[in-house]
Amino acid sequence: MTDYYAVAHPCDLLDEDLALALDRLHGEIGVNGLAVWAAAPESAWIRGRGINPRLLRSRGGLFFLPDESRYHLTRLKPVTSERLKSRDVFSQITDGCDQRGLKVRALVSASRAGRLPGKYPAMTCKNALGDDSQVSLCLAHPDVQAYLTALVTDLTSERSLAGVILADFEIFWAEADDPRIAADLNIGVGGRRLLGLCFCESCRQGATLAGVDVDKAIDTVRLALDRWFPARTPVSADGQALLEVQPALAAFLRFQDETLMRLKSRLREASSHTLFLLEGEPGTPWATSTFADPAVRPIRSLDTVNLNELERQGVTAPEQSELCVTTQALRHATSADLVSFFQKATEWGVSAILVDGYGKLAERDLNALRQAIRFARRSSAS
Ligand SMILES: [Zn+2]
Repeated sequence: MTDYYAVAHPCDLLDEDLALALDRLHGEIGVNGLAVWAAAPESAWIRGRGINPRLLRSRGGLFFLPDESRYHLTRLKPVTSERLKSRDVFSQITDGCDQRGLKVRALVSASRAGRLPGKYPAMTCKNALGDDSQVSLCLAHPDVQAYLTALVTDLTSERSLAGVILADFEIFWAEADDPRIAADLNIGVGGRRLLGLCFCESCRQGATLAGVDVDKAIDTVRLALDRWFPARTPVSADGQALLEVQPALAAFLRFQDETLMRLKSRLREASSHTLFLLEGEPGTPWATSTFADPAVRPIRSLDTVNLNELERQGVTAPEQSELCVTTQALRHATSADLVSFFQKATEWGVSAILVDGYGKLAERDLNALRQAIRFARRSSAS
């Protein structure tokens, strides 16, 4: 049985009217689950239909009331969203879902936790040129690891959720993804990957202890960036090749991958619920599929609802597969595309399809979604 989840930001649900939104999602659109941001990154987006304000800016943070005593092993203390005030928004939403029989998963941004990078600059990522991130915490930092472990325990210990989804589970200087910064550079995916490599104190120390020639790795990246910045030509292929063939750099990346693997195991042990990992598309800087761990279930993010593309990516192991349709993919799909995508993925036995950005969707998108879910259910029942 395939589950159909809408991914929703608490602000969108609250501003639309929580009860009405849940009634509609459940009764009309036909999802049987909701993935809700419990620990959100800073972001801004335009609402796709009449939800006010039309432009929402959120500094992110926690949308549940943390049990502060659980965070005693870390200097990093939880910060709640300005929307929380005295009400536990996340519990309000989960209660509403329980009443309607909707499953709930909690979404957690692992590295781009809202409001924290500004408060704890020593725990943020730093690129090869020495620039601190104002967006991403470094997951190699011991305090960040302890914080995330406490957060997962805190979220799952007294709630009955259908799982926790980790997003932004990466060690990455996030500004390299920021179109305002990266657009002019035209350095391509490979170049952005190099620019986004983190060489913070924790990464350098850890890698040095693991026997990596860190100075050599940094020099390689700096030289490459110095060469590419003035050239203004995309360097995707070169960047990727460099990461693979330059021994010190390859070893450094291996250290970061292993660090994330260990953290993933630690989080799995801390969570009393199933843990999911939201992955980027392969080939993007944030793709994490190179270090798959069968105990943490991956969710593949799709920027297009193209079935041939899906097959090419090897989405053929139904019992393990979960897919997340991005807002962009939904917007660019025709209603017919969406219907056939949902039908085929359901026939394959994909265990869940998530649809991102509930608040960004226009009425037209919601109608297309309703139709796609209805057809997929009907054809799987027959
Ligand atoms: Zn780092």
